[in-house]
Amino acid sequence: MAGKSKSKTPSAGLWKREQGWDKLKAGEEKALEKYCAEYREFLSQAKTERLTHDFLVKRAIEAGFEELEKAIGGGRKLKAGAKVYRSYGDKTLMLIRVGKAPLTEGMNLVGGHSDCPRLDAKPYPLYQEDDLLLLDTHYYGGIRKYQWVAMPLALFGVVILRNGKKVNISIGDQPDDPVFVITDLLPHLDTEAGKKTLADGINGEALNVLVGSRPVDKKEDDKDCKDKTKLRILRLLKETYGIEEEDFFSAELELVPAGAARELGLDRSMILGYGHDDRVCAYSGARALLDSTGIPYRTQVALICDKEEIGSYGATGMDSTFLENTVAELLEACGEYRGLDLRRALERSKMLSADVTALHDPGFASVSSPNNMSRINCGLAVTKYTGSRGKAGASDASAEFASEVRKIFNDANVVWQSCELGKVDVGGGGTISHYMARYGMDVIDCGVGLFSMHAPWEVAGKLDIYMAWKGYKAFLENKFLVK
Ligand SMILES: [Zn+2]
Repeated sequence: MAGKSKSKTPSAGLWKREQGWDKLKAGEEKALEKYCAEYREFLSQAKTERLTHDFLVKRAIEAGFEELEKAIGGGRKLKAGAKVYRSYGDKTLMLIRVGKAPLTEGMNLVGGHSDCPRLDAKPYPLYQEDDLLLLDTHYYGGIRKYQWVAMPLALFGVVILRNGKKVNISIGDQPDDPVFVITDLLPHLDTEAGKKTLADGINGEALNVLVGSRPVDKKEDDKDCKDKTKLRILRLLKETYGIEEEDFFSAELELVPAGAARELGLDRSMILGYGHDDRVCAYSGARALLDSTGIPYRTQVALICDKEEIGSYGATGMDSTFLENTVAELLEACGEYRGLDLRRALERSKMLSADVTALHDPGFASVSSPNNMSRINCGLAVTKYTGSRGKAGASDASAEFASEVRKIFNDANVVWQSCELGKVDVGGGGTISHYMARYGMDVIDCGVGLFSMHAPWEVAGKLDIYMAWKGYKAFLENKFLVK
C-alpha cells in the first residue's frame, strides 16, 4: 500500500519569539545556573565602575593575563596567544587575547559599560538642618528620582586626602554596617504633594541623604560651632579615615542601593540586582573572553567602558581615544606601529556593542511595540539600531553584518531574539555603538533585556544572562575570513 506522497514544498516557517528553556542542550541548564550564581556574586560585590575594574583585573590576572606595559617591558614583543590588559583611570579596561592573524585584519570586540545610574556626593556635600546631618547629592545618569527614596543606600568610592593618600570607602553592604536613606513624606500628609506628577514629586535637589542625627557630647562640645551633628560626623571621619571636609572635593563617592543581588521568583528564573545595566553585558563580555581557550585566529577584545550613562564623554568614556591609543600600543607591541595599520585594524574590526535593552512589560504595554520588543528569557537581544524618534543618533548595523551575527549565533545554538526599544514616537536610547562605528567598523547592539531599567533594582532573566555569555564567546571566537 502506498503511503501519502511527501510534499516537496518547504513550509513557510513562521518565526516565533518564545522562551528558550526547551532549547537548552542536555546539561546546559546546570551550566546556566552556575554561570548565573557567579554573575550574582560579581553584581553584589562590584557596585561601581572602579570595583568592576578591580574585580575583572583580578580575574584576568588569575587567568594568566599581564598588564600590557609590563608584558612588553625590555622591548619584548607580543606573540599570538599573548593575554594582556590595559586600564585607564582604574575604570576603563581592555582585555586582549592576541590572535594569529595580523591586527590589520581587524579584531573581534565585545564592549559594555560598568557605570550605572546612582547618586554622587556633591563636592561640598555635608550640611545640617535641625539636628540632622544630610549629604547633598547630584544624580548620575537617567533616573526616576522618586524610586531612590525610603530605601537603604550604601556608600562606595574613593577620597584623595590632602597628602595624596587614596582612601577607599565601602559602607553599607556588610551585615554590621550602617546604611543611609533619603526620607520620604508620609501618606497622612500628602494631600497636596500627592497631586504632583512622578517627575515632579521628588526633584534633584531633594535627593539629600540622611547620614547622622546625634550632636557631639556636651563634654566634647565646641561652643562656637552651631552644627553639632556635623561636628560629630566630621570628627568621626577624621578619626576613621583621616578625611577632612575639604577632601570631599577630591573624592568620588557614590550612593547605591544597599544589599546583594538575589534570585527572583518562586521558580528562581530571574535575578533582581542593582546595576544589571550594564554590568550584565560588561561581565559577560569579559567572562566570554576569559573563558575562551587556545590561540584565537583574530585578536579578541573585551572592552569595559565608563561614562556611558552620561554620554560617554570624559577621558574614561568611549568618546575619548582610549581604544585608538590601546590599539596603537598593541600594534607596536606586536611588531611596529604605523598610522595606516591603526586605521586598517579599527576599520576591519567587528564589534558587539554589549548593552541592555528594555523587555516588553505587560504592565506598561502602552509604550511597547509588542512584536519588536525583547521578552524575558527568550534569549540574547540583538538591536539592529537604537536611537530615538526616527532612529536619531543610531549607528544602524548593515543587513550584511546582521546576517553574519545571526549565523554565528545560530551555528553556536545561542538563543537570541531581535528587538528595538519601545514605541517609535515615545522615546528611545543610545549606546556606545556610534563611537565605534565612526572608525568604519561593523557594530551591532546586543545585550540582555531588563525590566525596571535604571531603577535601583533591575530585573534580568537567567536564560538571557547565560545566552549573553554564550553569544559573546561565539562572536569573539569567529574567524570572519575574507571570502
Ligand atoms: Zn543605561
